[in-house]
Amino acid sequence: MLGYPPDRLFTGCIMHELSLAMSVKDIVEEAAKSNGSTKVNEVNIVVGSFSSVVPDALEFALEVAKKGTIFENARINIRTEKAVVNCSECGKDTEIEEFNFKCSSCGSGAVRVITGDRMYVESIDIES
Ligand SMILES: [Zn+2]
Repeated sequence: MLGYPPDRLFTGCIMHELSLAMSVKDIVEEAAKSNGSTKVNEVNIVVGSFSSVVPDALEFALEVAKKGTIFENARINIRTEKAVVNCSECGKDTEIEEFNFKCSSCGSGAVRVITGDRMYVESIDIES
């Protein structure tokens, strides 16, 4: 983490995000390698609102993880994805806010999270 001022904001969660950032690094390096490229322009990451990943902390961790790698100068875009649940009462898929595990359509609590509970690499722009 040389070159970065200590940031108290991330102290509690940076380890989690740092290990995720290392996974992203592996994915990006693997993708570039399989495309025979040595330059990555952009990495697009999606963070689900229920994924327990803090986007700011992940961004910070990626700044650290990409030092000296193939994507050192790549732009990192992180977008958050709202959580969507499927209701087993009415069958509808609805977006939910915060940790309110209820169907937005009928109010039932019999719901299952279908998106927004993960963090993933959506796309990687690799220079050919
Ligand atoms: Zn419902």
